[in-house]
Order: sequence, then structure tokens, then C-alpha cells
Amino acid sequence: MDLDFDRNHIWHPYSSLIDPPPVYPIARAEGVRIYLEDGRGLIDGMSSWWSALHGYKVPELNDAMRAQIEKMSHVMFGGLTHQPAIDLCKKLVEITPAPLTRVFLADSGSVSVEVAIKMALQYWHSQGRSEKDKLLALRNGYHGDTFGAMAACDPVTGMHHLFAGHLTQHFFAPAPRPKFDQPCGDADIAELRQLIEAHQAELAAVILEPIVQGAGGMRFYSPDYLRRVRALCDEYDLLLIADEIATGFGRSGRLFACEHAGISPDILTLGKALTGGTMTLAAALCTDRVAEGICRGEAGVFMHGPTFMGNPLACAVASASIDLLLAGPWQQRVAAIENHLHKALAPLRDSNAVADVRALGAIGVVEMREPVNMMQVQQALIERGVWLRPFGKLVYTMPPYVIAEQDLSQLTDAMVEVLGNL
Ligand SMILES: *Cc1c(COP(=O)(O)O)cnc(C)c1O
Repeated sequence: MDLDFDRNHIWHPYSSLIDPPPVYPIARAEGVRIYLEDGRGLIDGMSSWWSALHGYKVPELNDAMRAQIEKMSHVMFGGLTHQPAIDLCKKLVEITPAPLTRVFLADSGSVSVEVAIKMALQYWHSQGRSEKDKLLALRNGYHGDTFGAMAACDPVTGMHHLFAGHLTQHFFAPAPRPKFDQPCGDADIAELRQLIEAHQAELAAVILEPIVQGAGGMRFYSPDYLRRVRALCDEYDLLLIADEIATGFGRSGRLFACEHAGISPDILTLGKALTGGTMTLAAALCTDRVAEGICRGEAGVFMHGPTFMGNPLACAVASASIDLLLAGPWQQRVAAIENHLHKALAPLRDSNAVADVRALGAIGVVEMREPVNMMQVQQALIERGVWLRPFGKLVYTMPPYVIAEQDLSQLTDAMVEVLGNL
């Protein structure tokens, strides 16, 4: 591969074109492994950023795409519809919490967050309350890289402080303190309650990642906290936007992380694992109340419609991915991965360089005391046949659910060896 051309001409995520870190040439992927050009296989402990939950070269997904290509890869969604979109949206309505009944198909996670925010603003505009145009978000939250989404990210850990002057100034509550297995006391929610009480008149919605804060800190928090946020939204008549782009489709041990708390949001965003890691597709679902509120308003319609909305190829493979997930023992698999991660990563607690080790569902996190040298750690893991992408102090894994015990051991052994020696 022409890696010189790549270095000089192609942006990678959060990359420099002056002094880019190495990128590794990948030739193919199969099962839980991605294969370097030189033939070496690496266990993908990242599931290509939470997306490839069945692994790679999955016959059911490839067959669904092949069959759809023979019919049509794409047609516009304005004024037209098709079976793949209908099948997928039926499934999404069926498997997400009950009050979510209306589906907007978007082309990436960040765009679905834009759509969710726009839904909330348009809803209040329709009620004659256009002054309700601010969000209450959480510190350590991450919601994407586009401008509306950036404005809801943690202003520090969200990676977007450079643009602070150009973003809508929303309100931020402290990151949830109670851990996953802890109750949430009045004190733990006091600041969020105060913010809501003080700014109720201008708040449209609370936006959060339920239970698992991803890219902004890899933190797991109490379902009790989430229940209390839902109750406050009801009390003060705010919409709740749950961003399950990372947690959706079983990653946290429940099909959707909201289920840990038994709550339902007014608006839900999905992405990442939606197509089983094959194509870009996302969705924003909302309740009847939100949809009808929007459509009874001044505009009479919801004001959004991307060119590739409802792409049939992506919808077809998303349907196949959901079918495959639900047909298999995903709960047992995710529970077994959680068990393994707890046990196998525990020895790292004894290392002075390690601040915390935690696991929830098929997510394992090692939080170091100091930021790690990503290139060095990555190189050492690759020598042990493992692919991870550490981020600051966080070295974490969310492997495909289908990973075999032996491969999972290779993955965690490599983490323990490499991180235990830092
Ligand atoms: C990844 C992510 C996004 C952004 O999705 P993209 O497809 O990268 O635009 C938004 N919210 C959460 C919680 C995410 O993990």
C-alpha cells in the first residue's frame, strides 16, 4: 500500500498531516480479527469503534447486502419508500422502549444527534415556547463531532474546547457520581436539580448517554441516577434525549442501556452497531407526543432530510444484523465477556500505574494514572496480536460478542502484560 500517499494526503480521525502517527495497513477482516497487509491477524478489541458486534465477514450480513444490491443500492427517500426501511423501522419500534414509535433514519451518529436536538427545539417551538432552546448535558459526556453535537459534549474532555466560542452555550451538570452498583442519593443529583430549577424556562431537554459515558471518560454510572433524571424531566416538563449510539444493541448487558433503569426517553439516538459494523447508518426515535407536537407546529413538518436518508443497502444489513443478534444467545455472551473482563483485568489493580479497572457488559476499562503513550502501547499490543486504541489515560476494550474464550484470553493477557509493565 502507498503509505507515503496516505501520510501526506489523507486525514484520519483526529490526525495530523504534519507529523502523523503510523497507520497500519489492513488488507481484510474475518471473525474477530483484522489482518495486516503482511498477513498478521489482530484481535479487534475495539469492534471498529463499538460497531462490529458480530465480528467481520459475517455470512448473514454479506448475504443481506448482496441481495439488496441486486435490487437497488439507493433511491431517494423524499416521496419514495421501500421494504428495507419499513422492515428496519418496524424492528426498531418493536425492540426499543415502548413509547418510542416514530423513526428518523440518519446517516451517522452525529447527524442523528443533530436530528434529536432539532426535534427537541422544534417541539417547543411548536408549543409556542421557542425560548426553550437550551440543553442540559453532563460533564464527561460525548455526543459527536458536528456543531450541534459538539455543543453538548463536555467542554473539556469532549475534545471540542477549541470551538467553544462558536457553539451554543448549554448547561452542564457534574458527571454522575454514584457508580453502577451504587444508589443515587439526593446529594448526588442536587446540582442537576438546581440547574433545572434555575433554567427551566429556557431548557428544551436533558441529553445524556444512559449508564455508560463513552468517549468522554468511559464511566459507568448508577441506574438509580438515570431514574432520578427521568423523574426530574417529568416534574419540570423537559424532554429526555438518550444517546445510545455506543450502548445500543446489547453492549452494556441490556439491549438498550435505558433498560437498566427501566426508563424510556422521549428521544433516542442509535448508530454505531446498528448495521453490525458494515455501513454508516443511524436513527433518532421519538414518542407520539414529540412527533405530533412537531407536526402540529408552524412548519407542519420536521425540517430535516439528508440525501442518503434511509439508504436501502444500509437498512437491509441493519435488519439482518438485528435478526442475527436476537436469534443468538447475546445475553449469555455479553455476560460471559463481562465475567472474563472482571477476572482477567483484576490483577492490574495491583499496579502503581493503574488508577482503576472496571467492566460492564462487553466493555472493559483500565484507567491509568497518567496518559499512556498511544503509539508505544499500540505497538506492544500488536506484537501480541491485539488491536486497541488507547485514549489519554484510558485503555479499553469492547470486543465483538462472538469472541471465543481463547481469543478473549489472548486479548486480556496482552492488556495485563503491556499495562502491568508501564
Ligand atoms: C460515536 C458516538 C457519537 C457520534 O457518532 P458518529 O457516527 O461518530 O458521528 C455520538 N454519541 C455517542 C454516545 C457516540 O459514542
